[in-house]
Order: sequence, then structure tokens, then C-alpha cells
Amino acid sequence: MIDNTKVRYFDNNATTRVAPEVVEAMIPFLSEMWGNPSSAYAFGAQVHGHVEKAREKVAALVGADPKEVVFTSCGTEANNSAIHSALVTTGKRHVVTTAVEHSANMNFGAYLEKRGFEVTYLPVESDGSLDLHLLEKSIRPDTAIVSAMMANNETGVLFPIEEIAAICRSKGVLSHTDAVQVPGKLKIDVRQLGVDFLSLSAHKLHAPKGIGMLYVKRRTKYQPYLIGGHQERGRRGGTESVANIVAFGRAAELALDSIEDENIRVRGLRDRFENWVLGNIPNTVRNGNRSNRLPNTANIAFDFVEAEAVLLQLDQVGICASSGSACTTGSLDPSHVLTAMGLNPMRARGSVRFSLGIYNTEEDVDFLISKLGPIIHRLREISPLSPEHPDNDKYDIEAARVKHEEEMAKAGIHG
Ligand SMILES: *Cc1c(COP(=O)(O)O)cnc(C)c1O
Repeated sequence: MIDNTKVRYFDNNATTRVAPEVVEAMIPFLSEMWGNPSSAYAFGAQVHGHVEKAREKVAALVGADPKEVVFTSCGTEANNSAIHSALVTTGKRHVVTTAVEHSANMNFGAYLEKRGFEVTYLPVESDGSLDLHLLEKSIRPDTAIVSAMMANNETGVLFPIEEIAAICRSKGVLSHTDAVQVPGKLKIDVRQLGVDFLSLSAHKLHAPKGIGMLYVKRRTKYQPYLIGGHQERGRRGGTESVANIVAFGRAAELALDSIEDENIRVRGLRDRFENWVLGNIPNTVRNGNRSNRLPNTANIAFDFVEAEAVLLQLDQVGICASSGSACTTGSLDPSHVLTAMGLNPMRARGSVRFSLGIYNTEEDVDFLISKLGPIIHRLREISPLSPEHPDNDKYDIEAARVKHEEEMAKAGIHG
């Protein structure tokens, strides 16, 4: 049995704890206020007001007008909807996105390509940043939309969305940003950003899973993705997920208040942890630009170990962290984000993401630090590639890397 109260949670970019205030706000809509907000009678109609109040709060989180907020089932739906709408309303067949997007975009891109659309995945620099000249050059007469994330979920690296949106406007192309990782950490102002579309997901900001939103700029043409009833002013069919929407509204209010805590206290915890690791565990590297990133994310490569082994050992002492790599049926594909940054496959497979949040304490970080050093050391002692392996006194790191790659290739694991 897992004692959930003892879990040390360093995976806030994957999902977040639902805030107690948020749970409290949604309970009435799971109990006595269960009416349909579209109903004409008062029992249902009273609920409508609460949905609209939540819409105002979510709009305020990003500086939008409430009319520009379309509630969706998740961040994935918001991303898919934006790109789908751009393709349908413009009739164009080319999409520009980046090589480091969330799978919501990567796999939607693959889906589009299978159906005859064209998708350009912009490469990134070794620190995870984007070359805006390349972005500008990639825009063609048949480009419908540019979709670039505001903050990367694996590394925390930020893209200059304001500049990207300006380039798009000058070229007459729509722009979308996946800002799912940003609320509560950095300020979002859609007017300043100048994008046509922006996605959020409530479960990344201490609300439940299964609710997201798409900001659709006033006067930007919009084609619904889910076609049905006239909910969301005709922009998204399906009866409103009232309790989740109310929860999202409450979480949006709290997120505005937590920006300071994220940027001072949480950033301090992250930096203390990261500096400790880089200073005390040899052969470790920070992945991603040091300053231009979210305050809560540390993505660290531990050479000579597999991230999955580290995560397993951390799990055994109640620590949650993650790697970007999807571990599926024996094949360990390295993270597409780290690969796009040019990390060699060995380093990418040894990279672990620690993402902190407002519920993390000094004591959590002390605990993590106390466990991580010994775990890495133990794993390296049994890694034939590592300088910490007892047989490896004369160590040639490049030869080891080549040997490792050969062995992985032989085993059918692809970098
Ligand atoms: C989590 C996440 C998503 C997906 O949101 P869901 O609500 O889980 O669909 C999209 N983009 C980024 C950057 C994310 O971190």
C-alpha cells in the first residue's frame, strides 16, 4: 500500500495536487447543484451563472475577455481544436510547429500528415531555444497556422511567443500557443502576446483533470472541433462539465496568487536542488537554458545511468519524478525533446525531470537530495560504462559512449 500522505511529489509538470480550496468550490456542483446550465427552469439556470463566473476568472488569468474563453475537456483538445480550426477556416494545408511540443501536437501533426496535410517541425538549439529566422522562413503561402508552446513541459524552456505572434501577423498567418505549463508560474497576457489561440489545462494548475480551455481571440474565425449543441456560444458541443469548470475558475484565481511563491520560494528550492546535484554528483548536466525557463523545472542528465532505473529507485522511497521517455514494451525511446536539442541518446536516456510546485517544502528537497546521491552512485557502480564502476580506473568517456551506442543498437533500442 502506498501512503499517499508521505509521497514527495516532484512531477508537477505531469499533473498537480488539487488544491483544497478548489475541491471545496466544486463540491456543491457534485451534490445539490446538479442541473444542466442550458435548462430554462431556475434549477438548471442557476448553474449557468456559476459557469459564467468561472469563465470570467479563467479569462482574467490570461487577460482575455470572457467571451474569448472556450472550455474544452483538456489541453489536448484545446491544441487539436486550434489547429483544426485554422486548417478548416483558411482552407490551407500547411502547419508549422516545433520539434519539442507536447504529444498533443506531435501526434496530431502525424495524424494530419497521414491525411495529406504538411507539417513543419522546427528544430531547436542545444539549449532548447528556437531560431526565429528559421521560423519566419518556414512560413509559406499555404501555411494556415504556427503553433509553438510557451513553456516546454520537459525542460521548462520558454519560447518568445510575443515575437512569434508578431511574425505570424506580418505574414497573415494564425498563431497558437500551448501555454499549459505557464499559469501560476509566469504572467500570461493574451493582448500582449498577440496570439489568436492559447491553450490551458486545469490539472496543471491544481484543479481536476478533464477540463481545459482554448482562448479564441475576438474576430478570429473559429470552426468548432466538437460539433453538437450550442454550448460555449456554439463553439464546442457537449454539456458543460460544470463542477470542473467551477474548479478551474477557483484554481485560476489561486494561480494568480501563486506566481510570487513559484518565482521566489519554489524557484529557490529548484535552484538549491539543481545546484546541489550539479555540484555534488559528477557527470551531471542541466538540460535546457538556465535562465530562460520556468521557475519550477529541473531537467538533469545523469550520465552512465538509465533514467528509468533512477525513477524506479526514487519510487521505492516515495519520490515521484519522471523522464520524457515513454517506456513501452521493452524499448526505451529517448525523449523527443532532448533528442531535438541534440543530446546523444545515452545522455537523453539518463535524463530525469524534477518539477516542483507550491506544495513542495524545504524538507522535501532535503529528502530528495539525501536519496538521490546514493541512488546514482549505486547505479553507476553496476554500470560497466561508468567511471564509478570498480573496473574502470582508466576511463575513456568517448569510447564508452560509442560502445554503449553499439550495444543499444544491437539490442534493437533506437536512439
Ligand atoms: C499536460 C500538457 C498538455 C496536455 O494537457 P491535458 O489536459 O492532459 O490534455 C499539453 N501541453 C503541455 C505543454 C502539457 O504539459
